[in-house]
Amino acid sequence: MPARELNAVVRMKFERAPGLMIMQVAPEDWPLPDFQPGQFTVLGLPGSAPRCPESDPEDPPLPPDKMIIRAYSVSSASDAKEYLEFYVSLVKSGELTPRLFNLQIGDRLHLSPKLTGFFTLDKVPEDKNVVLIATGTGLAPYMSMIRTSLTYETHRRFAVIHGAYHSWDLGYRLELAALDRISPVFDYIPIISDPQDEPTPWTGHTGFVQKVWQGDSIAKAWGARPTPEDTHVFLCGHPDMIESMEGILQEEGFQPHTKKNPGQYHLERYW
Ligand SMILES: Cc1cc2nc3c(=O)[nH]c(=O)nc-3n(C[C@H](O)[C@H](O)[C@H](O)COP(=O)(O)OP(=O)(O)OC[C@H]3O[C@@H](n4cnc5c(N)ncnc54)[C@H](O)[C@@H]3O)c2cc1C
Repeated sequence: MPARELNAVVRMKFERAPGLMIMQVAPEDWPLPDFQPGQFTVLGLPGSAPRCPESDPEDPPLPPDKMIIRAYSVSSASDAKEYLEFYVSLVKSGELTPRLFNLQIGDRLHLSPKLTGFFTLDKVPEDKNVVLIATGTGLAPYMSMIRTSLTYETHRRFAVIHGAYHSWDLGYRLELAALDRISPVFDYIPIISDPQDEPTPWTGHTGFVQKVWQGDSIAKAWGARPTPEDTHVFLCGHPDMIESMEGILQEEGFQPHTKKNPGQYHLERYW
């Protein structure tokens, strides 16, 4: 396959909230490779692709034949073989996302046939619980992990702590809340930072994900607070959240995981 051709098609696109979309992309006549939940690939469009009306104007415009490529975590299960799903937020001044948001079902784009990344559950010993902490679209890799693994996880515990500004920005909320109700090993704890904007009162957690981690929600659900001895923690999303959570985790004795020095927390930086 020639490098970076428009080799894939939008099979589903759903604007979850303004500036937040779930998009499924299918390869055109080539097989998707196997991948591990938590891994990412690359999407691309040429400078000639139009930007969505909500984005900032581009000045000067990019050369029409420049291929703009960016990394995106896969949110679909790794056993869904016909397509990959992505959860993307619009950066109004950005180069690629305004063009991705303008795509319609049936439009073509570049999808890299290579999926890669180390932000995966196989780094976690099988007897350890897992807490997945995200802000915004940092939830994407966890959706792939949960959709792939939760069907056979029956012993260790999983929790997702997802932070967003508003309730309507909590992508995948219905799916995660349903899983929470039906799975005895899964807990979903959403938290919003701007409850004053809600049209009806928000009765859940308010503030930032750090507050949920430091509070007693997980201890109530699991019967004990997670410790470095029994739990691995994943961090993905806003760089300030990652930095702040790293400080909190290290104070509690959690160590960063590297290939050389296995630790109990793992992180993926989007920017
Ligand atoms: C491994 C990896 C996985 C990623 N997975 C996802 C994903 O699943 N969903 C997703 O929406 N993005 C994801 N990203 C970010 C993505 O690659 C792009 O950086 C992002 O979509 C912005 O692209 P752009 O061309 O529109 O903006 P650019 O022109 O590249 O401008 C980016 C600048 O905008 C700012 N910015 C504000 N908000 C964001 C944001 N949410 N992401 C990145 N930059 C931001 C930063 O200052 C950044 O330097 C991932 C990045 C990496 C490295």
